[in-house]
Amino acid sequence: MRDIWEENLLCTSCNSKTEKIVLSKDNFNIRTWKCKSCKKSWPHPLDYKKFEGWKEIKDQRFNVKIREVGNSAVVSLPREILSFKEIKMGEEAAWKFRNSEELILEFRN
Ligand SMILES: [Zn+2]
Repeated sequence: MRDIWEENLLCTSCNSKTEKIVLSKDNFNIRTWKCKSCKKSWPHPLDYKKFEGWKEIKDQRFNVKIREVGNSAVVSLPREILSFKEIKMGEEAAWKFRNSEELILEFRN
């Protein structure tokens, strides 16, 4: 399927050509069309949606219980995290200590 990013858009305000730029915010790359004359800009809808999802989830705190399973323990990933990271069952992730009190779960996607 053709992505809208392949299109050259004209500015809806002044009808000038737009240029394609990539903005970086919080580790997200947001493909954006920017009008050269009036500076109006339009983010790529998919990139924008992903970034908006990040803004909703980034300051939330998810409390989970640690449960025993055999010789290990299990912590659950809340639905919001699964959905935001588009995690599929069976995917691999890795625990890594940030410091002696904090563990980071690194996703591969
Ligand atoms: Zn314009």
